[in-house]
Amino acid sequence: MKPRLLTPGPTPVPEDTLLDLARPVFFHRSAEFRAILGEVIEDLKYVFQTAHPVMVLTGSGTAGMEASVASALAPGDKAILMLCGRWGERWRNICKVHGIDFVPVEVPFGKANTAESLEAALKQHPDTKAVFTTFCETSTGVANDIKTFGSIVAKTDALFIVDAISGLATMECRTDDWGIDINVTGSQKALMLPPGLAYVSVSPKAWAKIDANKNARTFYLDLKRFRAKIAEGNDTPFTPAHTLIKAQRTSLKRMRAEGIENIWARHARMAAAARAGAKALGLELFAERPADGLTVITVPGGIDGTAILGALEKKHGLKLANGQDDMKGKIWRLAHMGYIDQFEVLAAISGLEIELMRAGRKVTPGVGVAAAQAAICEHLSRVS
Ligand SMILES: *Cc1c(COP(=O)(O)O)cnc(C)c1O
Repeated sequence: MKPRLLTPGPTPVPEDTLLDLARPVFFHRSAEFRAILGEVIEDLKYVFQTAHPVMVLTGSGTAGMEASVASALAPGDKAILMLCGRWGERWRNICKVHGIDFVPVEVPFGKANTAESLEAALKQHPDTKAVFTTFCETSTGVANDIKTFGSIVAKTDALFIVDAISGLATMECRTDDWGIDINVTGSQKALMLPPGLAYVSVSPKAWAKIDANKNARTFYLDLKRFRAKIAEGNDTPFTPAHTLIKAQRTSLKRMRAEGIENIWARHARMAAAARAGAKALGLELFAERPADGLTVITVPGGIDGTAILGALEKKHGLKLANGQDDMKGKIWRLAHMGYIDQFEVLAAISGLEIELMRAGRKVTPGVGVAAAQAAICEHLSRVS
């Protein structure tokens, strides 16, 4: 059976990148590595749509999140947390550990945070040092309106800090133009690499705060160390996961060749197909404002959601993700981010049709796939 990985991290890795990972290990304090890191940083700037160097950290996405809290804030600093799911909760837990005085702005799972609630919170807390949010809330499939949030925060002294770990390179994201002061992503979502690296962009406004922050409580994740080593000639403060960085260069070249606008369009097309397919099967989307990197479907009444996922994997090689924590068995998460194309989305919808029929639900064979194909056609005609 051919396994198809359709989970929102990790995601499939292109063949040429996998071959890169099979190459012999080389020395990291070398001109060769510095040239590679320089190229990777340039291509990351393109993917982030920023003019400023992107820090490359060894660690999963969470390392990038903690680096931003620990570098930009000191214990007792006030922060507004826009929370709409499990990954927003991660901001809360990191802030707790670092003694941040946080103000949570919450909505129920499945909903998006609102610009109005952000404006109200900033008005009520003018001493806010930073606003934290999640671009794509991978636990619910919700996309937040980062562009609008950024324009609101930009009018204040607060930093705008975004977890774009599953959002970057799946939906339009213009780091500089949208006023994102610290933007965080990881290697294993849309960047077509295995887990292990975190990428953090930092605006001049954020660097000013970081430089003034004499109480930063971190050694390994201090962003200043990374900036200093880049300035010395694309070096790193500690031993980096340099074989991954080298492989990232290969995936980034692929992304450059596709073009960032085309990457956004491909994800929009796959998302449209997944949503149309699910709806045609009589299923409901869980997210009120769905993201383009994954589609989250509510498990219908009378169906064992976990059993369907097991059958999809064992009988068809289709690996979708379950809900996390309390959401287990209640939602299906179909990822279409990174090195995935529309035909894998069609495969997933087709498999879902088959397993829903086998579970006794009335489904006309092909309706989900037909609707998904129609959505793809419609999208392709838009770009001509
Ligand atoms: C995957 C993910 C994370 C977690 O990243 P790790 O790489 O597991 O540390 C955080 N936020 C979002 C939105 C994610 O999708």
